[in-house]
Amino acid sequence: MFIDNKIFVESGNGPLLNAKRALSALDLSKIKNKKVLIKPNIGRLVAPEKGINTHPQAIAGVIEALKDAGIKKIAIGESPILGVNTMEAFKKSGVTEVAQKYNCELIDMDSIPPREVKIKNGRVLDTTSICSHVFEYDILLSLPVAKCHMHTGVTLGIKNLKGCLYKREKVRYHQLEYKGVEYPEKTLDSAISDLATVLMPHITVIDGYIGMQGLGPSGGDPIKSDFAVASYNAFGADITGCVLMGFNPQEIPHLKIISERMDFSFDFNEYQINPVDFRKFRVNYKQPANDVAIEYPDVVLCDKESCSACLSTVMLFLKRFKDDMSQYLLDDGLLHLAIGKGVTKDDIKEGTVLIGNCTKLAKDFGIYVPGCPPVPTRIYKAITGREPDKNEPEIES
Ligand code: SF4
Repeated sequence: MFIDNKIFVESGNGPLLNAKRALSALDLSKIKNKKVLIKPNIGRLVAPEKGINTHPQAIAGVIEALKDAGIKKIAIGESPILGVNTMEAFKKSGVTEVAQKYNCELIDMDSIPPREVKIKNGRVLDTTSICSHVFEYDILLSLPVAKCHMHTGVTLGIKNLKGCLYKREKVRYHQLEYKGVEYPEKTLDSAISDLATVLMPHITVIDGYIGMQGLGPSGGDPIKSDFAVASYNAFGADITGCVLMGFNPQEIPHLKIISERMDFSFDFNEYQINPVDFRKFRVNYKQPANDVAIEYPDVVLCDKESCSACLSTVMLFLKRFKDDMSQYLLDDGLLHLAIGKGVTKDDIKEGTVLIGNCTKLAKDFGIYVPGCPPVPTRIYKAITGREPDKNEPEIES
C-alpha cells in the first residue's frame, strides 16, 4: 500500500526535528483519514539516550508530523522482550510523557489475544502469532532506533516488527529449524523474512539520533549519529539506514533474503533519495561482533538458539560484573557462559554458567541460573554466592 521509492534523510537537528522533517517530507495527504499505529523500539526497561530504545523526542517528532498532516487517530504500541512490562518500559524510556503531551493512546500489545497469520511458502514458519492491535490500524509506522545486533547484523525498520509478535512468539523465532530445504542463512534471518511476507511497515522512520554500535541490541555502546530516515518503502529506508551506519546492506542476511524473495532492490539508483548526497551524514558504527570473545577475550559464550532477552542479559552482566569474575574462571583461564535452548552437556565445559531456563537440561554440568531471562544481579549471585554491592547502579535487562 502506498509504496514508492522516495526516501528522505535529515541530519544534525536533534531527534525531534530530524524525525519530524524527514516524515513531513513524505506525501502524508495519502493517509490523512487513516488510523496510525506507531511501533517504536521500546523493548527494554531503560532510560532515554542509551541507544537501546527509540528516543522519546523522535516519537514526538513523528507525532507532530502526523498531526500537522491532519491525522487524528495516533497510538503507540509495543510488545517488549520477555520479562519486560510494556507500560513500565514506556514510562522509564520517556514515552509515557510524550504520549500524554500529545494525547496519544499507549498500547500494551500483549494485552489481548493475538491473531494467527498463515505464511505461504515460509522458509521456517507456516503460521505466526501477531499482536491483534496491529490489525486495528490502517497504517503501521515502524520507528526503530538504529542499532547493531549480534544475531541479525542490524535492527532497523523491518526487523523492528519482530516486536509485533505476541509474547513468546518472539522467542520461537530464535529456536526454529529448516523444514527440508536448508538455506545458508541462520534460521532467525529466514524467520524475519517469513514475517516480512505478511507484515511490513507502511511507513518507516529510523531514529538515528543516538544509536547503538558493537554488541547490540543492548550490550553495545551508544553512538550519536543524529540522523533520521523516512520512507513509505521499508526496504529502501533500511538499506539507507545501513549505509548511514557505515554498513553494506547487502551483507545483512535478512535484508538479502527479503530482497530476493520480495523483489526489493539494493541499487540506490532505483530510489529517489533526498538529499542525493545523503552519504555525507554517515557515521561508522563499530561492527557487531558475532563472537563475544572479540570484546571480552577471556569469556567463552556458548550461544545455541538463545533469544535476544538472554543475550542482552549476558551483555549487561559482562558490562557490569566482568571485572569481578577473575576468581571464577575455569582451569583454562576463561569464564564460560552458555545460553539458549540448544545447549547440551556436549557443548560446554564442566563448570560453565548456564543462564536461563532454556539451559536447564544441562544444569548438572555447571552453575545453573534459572529465569527467563534472569537479571544480571541473579547471575552474579549464582556465581559468587553473594549479593552485588548495593551502591552499584542497577541496570535492567
Ligand atoms: S531462558 Fe533465555 S533464551 Fe530461553 S526463552 Fe527465556 S530469555 Fe529466551
